[in-house]
Amino acid sequence: MPDVIYIMSDNRSGSTLLENILSKSDECFSVGELAMLKGHLLKYGPGARWNYNCACGKPFTECEFWSPIIAKIFEADKENFFTSINWNFKSKALALNALFPFLFKEKFSKICSREANKKVIATLNELYKTVSEKSGKKFIIDSSKNPLQALAIYKNKKDFNVKIIWLKRDIRAIATSKRKWKSENKKKEKSLLKLVLDIFYYRRLCYTVSTMIDPADILYMEYEDLAKNTHEELQKIFQAFNMKPFPTPQFMELVEDHTIGGTPGRFSKKPIQYDEGWKEQFKNDQLAYTTGGVLNKI
Ligand SMILES: [Zn+2]
Repeated sequence: MPDVIYIMSDNRSGSTLLENILSKSDECFSVGELAMLKGHLLKYGPGARWNYNCACGKPFTECEFWSPIIAKIFEADKENFFTSINWNFKSKALALNALFPFLFKEKFSKICSREANKKVIATLNELYKTVSEKSGKKFIIDSSKNPLQALAIYKNKKDFNVKIIWLKRDIRAIATSKRKWKSENKKKEKSLLKLVLDIFYYRRLCYTVSTMIDPADILYMEYEDLAKNTHEELQKIFQAFNMKPFPTPQFMELVEDHTIGGTPGRFSKKPIQYDEGWKEQFKNDQLAYTTGGVLNKI
């Protein structure tokens, strides 16, 4: 039975780096952000920058790995093809969950069993199964990030096991990175303090989900450790998931990858290293810096 290793994290937290590192294993096939597959096929949502193509540079309908899978699962039944869990929390619910996560477990379970989300789960199950058959690999790496998607596949796994890596990063570093992408995409800028709070709320969603997963099936990891001590962190993954050790990569690069979505920066080869440049941006915002520091510890 194959294992799906699902990377749960916020945006800008190193999920593409982790997915890319694991894709170097002979036992792993990385699909990237599977949740974005439908958007990439129908050309909506994030992905316009790379024209919604696969990481190999071809449209998914022409990619040698994905095209037969798309023909079998998507073309055959477009009406019922959904790859992303539906959920929408108002800011009040987000704040409440941050304070009282135990009150939200039932709500989370209900979201996963909604009629619309059953179709998502059915599609994902079919995709995992087909990817596993076609690739012949023991592990499928899914870096979709979304915590409710993680819970939905975990609770409804059928022909495979699901393991989750919760990848965290300093809230303040995520905030500066998000602000940078927002301004590049010409979106309205939020203050660093507002961003820090939003990121904290999202992290608490991940926390609630983490309490609903069997401790044997979840691994906690910090982006800072992964970037600084890649080798040591990799050993933890090998141990936790019974994966055959492989040499620690020095670079983040695409090598015959067929991943969906990911960070726009993934197309160029880069050394794996830790960068503290984000701290500069808090020079004039001590309040956001201190608040982020406190929230990191909760
Ligand atoms: Zn491809």
